[in-house]
Amino acid sequence: TPILEMHNIAKSFGQFYALKGVDLTVYRGEIHALMGENGAGKSTLMKILAGAYIASSGEIFIDGQPFAIKGPKDALAAGITLIYQEMNLAPNLTVAENIFLGSEIQRGGLVKRRQMLLEAQKVIDRLGAQFSAGDRVMKLTIAEQQQVEIARALHRNSRILVMDEPTAALSSRETHRLFELIKRLRDEGMAIIYISHRMAEVYELSDRVSVLRDGQYVGSLTREKLSASELVRMMVGRPLSDLFN
Ligand code: ADP
Ligand code: MG
Ligand code: MG
Repeated sequence: TPILEMHNIAKSFGQFYALKGVDLTVYRGEIHALMGENGAGKSTLMKILAGAYIASSGEIFIDGQPFAIKGPKDALAAGITLIYQEMNLAPNLTVAENIFLGSEIQRGGLVKRRQMLLEAQKVIDRLGAQFSAGDRVMKLTIAEQQQVEIARALHRNSRILVMDEPTAALSSRETHRLFELIKRLRDEGMAIIYISHRMAEVYELSDRVSVLRDGQYVGSLTREKLSASELVRMMVGRPLSDLFN
């Protein structure tokens, strides 16, 4: 059974349909790229998955069971974390406080705070990150802040990690590190969905690619069938050669 199935998802903003009945199937232990031209509906689809938007119609199945996602809490309960390009951290708080944001322990006394630091440090070490649980988030690089968000996802036992263009602000070295981490999480059984425009990255990282165009699902390619010309054809709706004629 797939860990996630999105069926016939539609989303309108007023009269305009950003998604016109999109399907997406994702398996555990898979790095799944979501591609499509700007405005194709990728971010909207992922925001629906994360409970940031409510779908106008369609169904979501988690582990084969229907699962209504009506808000961020439902997504959290389903084990879904979405990491946006604009990150979702409190810069004045420590790494540990951010990892535990919203959980009971953060409001506890001194003993609980010490326990929080230790637990946060464990998750950070598991990622191989270089910062400490007590560091303030505003002192961290973008790449490190991304790691804090991933640490929070692990702490919350997320099983589906969605990243919207995660390499946009990273150096090539940071990108390489992120990819090593994503692959490790994949090998531990997590499902990773990531939005990308960069063909070379998709080649390097993905086990499967799904393509959206104008709010519609075009199709998916497995790693074995990946080809740049086919991806471009799916994204723009005509063969690559036509673009130069
Ligand atoms: P992508 O991530 O593939 O670039 P988006 O999902 O961001 O595409 O957007 C898909 C379409 O929906 C675009 O035409 C965009 O302008 C529109 N759209 C996205 N969010 C909103 C919104 N909150 N209100 C109105 N239109 C929106
Ligand atoms: Mg866009
Ligand atoms: Mg987008």
